[in-house]
Amino acid sequence: MDGDLAHINRDLKYDDLIVVAGGGGFIGGWLTRYFHDVGYTRIRAVDKKPLQDWYQRTPGVENLCLDLSERESCARAVENAAEVYDLAADMGGMGFIERFRVECMRSSLINTHLIEAAYQAGANRYFFSSSACVYNTLLQQDPNVRPLKESDAYPAMAERGYGWEKLFAEMLCQEYWAERNLKTFTARFHNVYGPHGTWDGGREKAPAAICRKVIQAKDTGSNEIMIWGDGSQTRSYMYIEDCIKGIDMIVHCDDLIATPINLGSSELISVDDLVTLAEKIGNVKLARKYDPTAPRGVAGRNSDNTFIKQVLGWEPSTPFKKGLAETYAWIEQQYIARKEGKRVVQDTL
Ligand code: NAD
Repeated sequence: MDGDLAHINRDLKYDDLIVVAGGGGFIGGWLTRYFHDVGYTRIRAVDKKPLQDWYQRTPGVENLCLDLSERESCARAVENAAEVYDLAADMGGMGFIERFRVECMRSSLINTHLIEAAYQAGANRYFFSSSACVYNTLLQQDPNVRPLKESDAYPAMAERGYGWEKLFAEMLCQEYWAERNLKTFTARFHNVYGPHGTWDGGREKAPAAICRKVIQAKDTGSNEIMIWGDGSQTRSYMYIEDCIKGIDMIVHCDDLIATPINLGSSELISVDDLVTLAEKIGNVKLARKYDPTAPRGVAGRNSDNTFIKQVLGWEPSTPFKKGLAETYAWIEQQYIARKEGKRVVQDTL
């Protein structure tokens, strides 16, 4: 077993039921496979997408296609569950969350019904996937941003739509613990990336979008790339394997009950640097064009990892260069497969 995980105290038997909501998506798909690989024998993955559109399907897992914005579906999804992981949401990169705020906010239906169903079903632990978008946007107006610590979510001025919805759901988790003793855990993810995620269609995030654009420019010989904004925006990006490991550690640490915590890398990268890295991986140099009218989000955002290091003695540390190379290679495979007329999974708006 991974050394960082050795001290985890999972009060979970190998045949207890784990439910992963959003199991057809990027992070949910990885989490499902992870628990299977650790040795859990009863896992239920639930998603509203038809099975053929799931990013990953793990053998031996019960896959259910249900719309979790409906109360009855949530009750069915969590029947007999020991642990419930809520990774279901209508979301995407900046292009999506700036344009479809109503859709983002309607995820509150999923979060409200699912937590109540988990409580009614007697689940022991409940995980909610929050986001760095809950942080006060006024603290993110400079690319050389001060890393955000957990207390920076208040006074609240979250990202419109998506961020406010996440903040509300965080509060819900805190109250289910305070009033009803349901052990809830909340991680604020900072830009997760990696293979088996959205890479085209309008919901993809910057690392996948830039990889795809570089691959496409090479393939078509256009030799130029369009960049959203002026390229100076900064973010930190967390590799998917760090995210999955972090979720496991957070959910099985009782010091973190009802305590939102950052789960992100603290390696700050500008969009221009991201393009340079992707060019190096693709062994190409492209002419850069900038679209100042495209969605660009806050000017800068980074994760302050003081708290996670203090509580878990760990933080996400996969170097961006390494993770991006893995992601690029996977997207290139998808791109080629699609070009050859094979069916590939890619989300559309
Ligand atoms: P994703 O879009 O790949 O996965 C979300 C899944 O939820 C999708 O498969 C979707 O079909 C499913 N879903 C949506 N509505 C549903 C419904 N009504 N019923 C059942 N399933 C439904 O996204 P992801 O990147 O895997 O994100 C997972 C979670 O992590 C989300 O809550 C997201 O807000 C959060 N998050 C992700 C990131 C990131 O960088 N990927 C950053 C911050 C927070």
